[in-house]
Amino acid sequence: MQKINLKNLSLQEIEGLVESLGEKPYRARQIYEWVFQKDVSDIGEMTNLSLNLREQLNKPAYISRLSIANKRTSSDGTSKYLFLLEDGNSIESVLIPDEDRLTLCISTQVGCKLGCAFCLTGKSGFVRNLSQSEIIEQILSVQREIRPPLSSLLTKEGNGVVGDITNIVLMGMGEPLDNYENIIKSIKTMISPNGLKIPARRITLSTSGLIPEIKKLAKENLKINLAISLNASDNETRDKIMPVNKKYPIEELLEALKEYPLPPNRRITFEYVIIKGLNDSIEDAKRLSNILKNIKCKINLIPFNSFEGSDYETPDYKNVEEFQNFLISRHYTAIIRKSKGADICAACGQLRSKRLEG
Ligand code: SAH
Ligand code: SF4
Repeated sequence: MQKINLKNLSLQEIEGLVESLGEKPYRARQIYEWVFQKDVSDIGEMTNLSLNLREQLNKPAYISRLSIANKRTSSDGTSKYLFLLEDGNSIESVLIPDEDRLTLCISTQVGCKLGCAFCLTGKSGFVRNLSQSEIIEQILSVQREIRPPLSSLLTKEGNGVVGDITNIVLMGMGEPLDNYENIIKSIKTMISPNGLKIPARRITLSTSGLIPEIKKLAKENLKINLAISLNASDNETRDKIMPVNKKYPIEELLEALKEYPLPPNRRITFEYVIIKGLNDSIEDAKRLSNILKNIKCKINLIPFNSFEGSDYETPDYKNVEEFQNFLISRHYTAIIRKSKGADICAACGQLRSKRLEG
């Protein structure tokens, strides 16, 4: 019989498991806390459970961990982690230190189906969805690595305390809303007071604009931030670089976003990858400012990061600044996001999955 990975379960699912073992439902909360808050890897360590329950649980269940296959740190302080999955696939996460934040960018799928022309992940195709355990383990294992257990700090064997991860962005490999069930379950575990206890306002989900899932997400009322990869101001250009636009064109996407219930003082973020000669003119900026008129939003301008074999070029910085200044003159908040970690291929759109052999 295949064992159940406790890290793949929701609190309700652990309740079901506990009840099937003839135990009281409140035990489920304790187990959930051991797995996600205290981050134990061995059921034997769950010391507030009876020895008998621990033994009973050990038979059908286990707790998985991901191994960090490689870590590279950029000259700007960004670190890229490569994780080896149980089936031989691999994924990457990027840790980005900023003044008062430590943001982890996590992957949601191995590859991506959406095939955006400017994105290496998209160009590499789709392999499979990530499970809750694989999504949450990216956070737990990086946290474990940057904040070693107290015992190793006391003996000075640790590799330095950097503090805790403060923000999570679902902007690594994959389209989060194309892995809807596992993503919602994982976000609930991230924000649960019995789970990772990450405030919802510190989590951002980025999507290429899957309208039915955006509508479903609105009803979940999770209070996380939403970022939309718009990348163009007219359908003709967006069709060229984002095939998803043929199914969900700009005007329908923006209509759906107007109905998205934002918590007070919150805005939708639009990401706009600026590609030389494609979407970097003042005409583009003008159109963008017109179509976003009635939406509470801010705009992140991301100069295109190139990669081997890419068909596009990085824009001139002068154009990017003019683009930004135009939007500011129209009273938008527009920020140029210079991707960090480009020297280690950790920048937006540079992540790819590899099959690691052996
Ligand atoms: N699939 C989701 C989240 C992952 S992509 C989405 O598309 O939103 C995260 C961000 O990286 C997106 O905003 C995307 O537009 C951007 N991106 C992809 N490739 C890029 C590249 N080569 N240079 C700069 N940004 C890129
Ligand atoms: Fe997928 Fe996002 Fe890359 Fe598009 S930009 S291919 S949706 S990961």
